[in-house]
Amino acid sequence: MLEQRLIDAIGPDAVKTAPEDLAVYAFDAYSEGPPPAAVVLPASTRDVAAVVKIARDCGEPIVARGAGTGLCGAAVPTQGGIVVSFARMNRVLEIDARNRRARVQPGLINLELSKRVAANGLFYAPDPSSQKISTIGGNIGTNAGGPHCLSYGTTVNHILGLEIIDDSGEVFTTSLDDPGYDLTGTLVGSEGTLGIVGSAWVRLLRAPESTRVWLAAFGDVESASEAVSAIVGAGIVPTALEIMDAVITQAVETAFHAGYPTDAGAVLLIENAGFEDDMAYAEREIERIVKSHGAISWRSARNAAEREALWAGRKGAAGAVGQIAPNYYIQDVCVPRTKLPQALRAVTHAARSNGIEVGNVFHAGDGNLHPLLMYDKRDARQVGAVIEAGNEILGAAIDLGGTISGEHGIGFEKRETLTRVFTTDDLATMARVRDVFDPRRMLNPEKIFPSGASCAEVR
Ligand SMILES: Cc1cc2nc3c(=O)[nH]c(=O)nc-3n(C[C@H](O)[C@H](O)[C@H](O)COP(=O)(O)OP(=O)(O)OC[C@H]3O[C@@H](n4cnc5c(N)ncnc54)[C@H](O)[C@@H]3O)c2cc1C
Repeated sequence: MLEQRLIDAIGPDAVKTAPEDLAVYAFDAYSEGPPPAAVVLPASTRDVAAVVKIARDCGEPIVARGAGTGLCGAAVPTQGGIVVSFARMNRVLEIDARNRRARVQPGLINLELSKRVAANGLFYAPDPSSQKISTIGGNIGTNAGGPHCLSYGTTVNHILGLEIIDDSGEVFTTSLDDPGYDLTGTLVGSEGTLGIVGSAWVRLLRAPESTRVWLAAFGDVESASEAVSAIVGAGIVPTALEIMDAVITQAVETAFHAGYPTDAGAVLLIENAGFEDDMAYAEREIERIVKSHGAISWRSARNAAEREALWAGRKGAAGAVGQIAPNYYIQDVCVPRTKLPQALRAVTHAARSNGIEVGNVFHAGDGNLHPLLMYDKRDARQVGAVIEAGNEILGAAIDLGGTISGEHGIGFEKRETLTRVFTTDDLATMARVRDVFDPRRMLNPEKIFPSGASCAEVR
């Protein structure tokens, strides 16, 4: 009945119900759930609206899905239902170069957007390390960050308006120009729980005149972190400030030969972009600051190929870790930038005291840590140790005045942890917002909100 109605509405090629097809949509990059009852691949907003109406009639939950690279289980269909894959809605619908904006479908791969507008001298700034595969819809769902969000801001700062399919299959639009409440901002980062994005107006930026990348090596991650705070404290905000510890740089060098020193305790990658005239001053100042904070070596990428190699190493870091351990669990916490040294010590302590190895690669300028806790999931002791270490890291971030997610989102991974940052009243207020958009709670249920008895009123 469900299958036939979906086929009648959007065509047989766009509906998948074979078990081997459904299994592919049961997981994301964090975890796995039950297979959905059906997967649909709409070709238009109208198709999506038709699917939502059928889901509503049949009482089936709906989960929007981009590329499934999410790291908090947000796209996992924990209650089954219908998964809406945006793989076929991947076009750039309009480029408005004069106003530096474009309208895109949600299944467009992040990096494709910058490639498409490069000829206009423009680019799309939010650049998660998954940008070669993750989608604009998924980036909107999680309010994705990335190395360049230090100076450009996260996804929410680059979405000018949205076309949304609501919980009853009606279509509405939002715009930053709307008077009154900022609904666009509310929808970004809502992990598909408030509405489904059918298309988005995104902000484009003018490609910088000049880009420089520098690499500073340090004896340890703490001194690299102190240098990061000193650079920003001196009033210089480079476009990116990324740190990798020795575990990560060695893995990256083995995998990619990016040109990182393998004898350093930490590598700080710095990028600055802007007007050519400002570059010499920035370089002088940054070099002076990192050296006065204990940098043991300093070098500047000489050309575009060297810049790209250094960035390819950084963006491939998580993949390179596959050479060291069969599995890893990537944490995502944020602390005030000046608290990075304490946070890193807490990470090391959490890993060591639980007998596991950890590697750190992180958006240091944002205070956004990403410890990669390595383990073998066939060993129950190691699984328990990783969970314990992960919890200790979350606790340390909160104690340092930080928070439990810098960019990966809450999904079902951290929904119980939300009670450690918000009161029941806070959560109940958020649940009231959700109920305005989705009173039946059929849009991506079991995400963001805690399930525990103490939070019965917000479930
Ligand atoms: C190697 C690696 C590196 C990563 N690096 C980063 C990083 O630097 N920064 C960062 O922020 N994240 C990073 N991530 C996490 C992940 O890539 C991001 O969260 C990304 O935004 C998810 O996009 P996706 O297309 O895979 O979405 P999915 O995982 O498919 O979905 C994510 C969420 O968006 C919702 N969603 C998807 N499409 C829509 C839509 N059309 N309408 C409404 N909701 C929708 C889903 O329901 C879900 O809640 C990384 C992941 C990996 C594997």
